[in-house]
Amino acid sequence: MLITTHIAATLFLGKYLDLSGPGWLVAFLGGVAIDIDHALLNFKYLPNIKLFFKKASDVSGRFNQHWWTHEAFFGAISGAAIGVFCAILLAVQWWIFLLFQFSHIALDGLMKFEHQPLAPFSKRKYFGPLASGTKIEFVVSLIVLGVIIL
Ligand SMILES: [Zn+2]
Repeated sequence: MLITTHIAATLFLGKYLDLSGPGWLVAFLGGVAIDIDHALLNFKYLPNIKLFFKKASDVSGRFNQHWWTHEAFFGAISGAAIGVFCAILLAVQWWIFLLFQFSHIALDGLMKFEHQPLAPFSKRKYFGPLASGTKIEFVVSLIVLGVIIL
């Protein structure tokens, strides 16, 4: 999904949970910043790094845009580990990173590109029902952002 959608979802959930200070930082790391793997794996941006990581980390077939942290099983394990790290470092609840990362994975999982939820243990795949990055999604996410912020 678009970054505006992930920002809106993170703000919505964070406000619902009444987060403060470091909680918001961890929420944005899990809910938005995990998309950094797109930059690392997408051929358009950094081809050399993509080739370096390709064999070990590509689970999305022809799309090559996300790593296992974007898949449900590995995402849950890595999210819990990162959450515990954040809890020790920033004195926040350990589940904040995991919850926001899961919200990100759940939203991305709706997109019509290849997902392998059990990676790296299974190559079983599915395609979500919604087209990714449409103008409608962009406009709706901006409206939701406006409602949340105002
Ligand atoms: Zn994503």
